[in-house]
Amino acid sequence: MNYDASAIQQKRRSGKNTCKEKSSAIQFSQGKTKTDRKKIEIKEGQTFGRLTAICFNGKDRYNHPIWMFLCTCGKKKEISAISVFKGVTRSCGCLRKENSKIMKSTHGLGHLDEYVIWCGIKQRCFNPKCKEYRLYGARGIILCDAWKHDFKAFYEYIGPRPTKHHSIDRIDSNGNYEPGNVRWATHLEQANNVRSNTILTCRGESKTMAEWARSLGIAYDMLCQRVCKLGWSHEKAILTPKLFT
Ligand SMILES: [Zn+2]
Repeated sequence: MNYDASAIQQKRRSGKNTCKEKSSAIQFSQGKTKTDRKKIEIKEGQTFGRLTAICFNGKDRYNHPIWMFLCTCGKKKEISAISVFKGVTRSCGCLRKENSKIMKSTHGLGHLDEYVIWCGIKQRCFNPKCKEYRLYGARGIILCDAWKHDFKAFYEYIGPRPTKHHSIDRIDSNGNYEPGNVRWATHLEQANNVRSNTILTCRGESKTMAEWARSLGIAYDMLCQRVCKLGWSHEKAILTPKLFT
């Protein structure tokens, strides 16, 4: 509202003072022309959207009445009576917050299952309050920097989840969520992958099968075959050069 309009309204209302004197009901006119002038009346206990009028609470700098409202969320707030009466304001602000949350989760890539999974990884790795944090973040397992703040980069690497039965698997389960160490896998595939955590001991040194494979420069599958299928001892599996199988 510009200065002139507010001055005119103040003039119009001068001498009436109905708002201050009648705290249970308030009436005033709004609008510059006869056609859009509308009588506005608010009574205690009246509801508008999530808001219930509690009491008249003075006027703002434009001389417009302010009421105290109670929102269904439990919050009390002073709001311009015009704004509430016209339906512009329907809550203490909680409605807008809820809507923007819904917008965020439905726009762009936020609606994807993969996005929810990515959020879950971040929780496990970085939120000490997360139930699973002790198995991830607390063990030093992280989501790499390139993916931590960039869902798109993560998604471009991992691609769409093949089926609902697939979840994120870390190939070396002591390794991070990072390029080269993640894939989609079914629960069965993941169970098989537990072998990569099998500890092999050779000449007093213990490492996981995946770590041995990496440090020896041989294929993980080959090492796994020697131990799991051929039943070789750990020492033999580790010390035999790769040409021998
Ligand atoms: Zn509210």
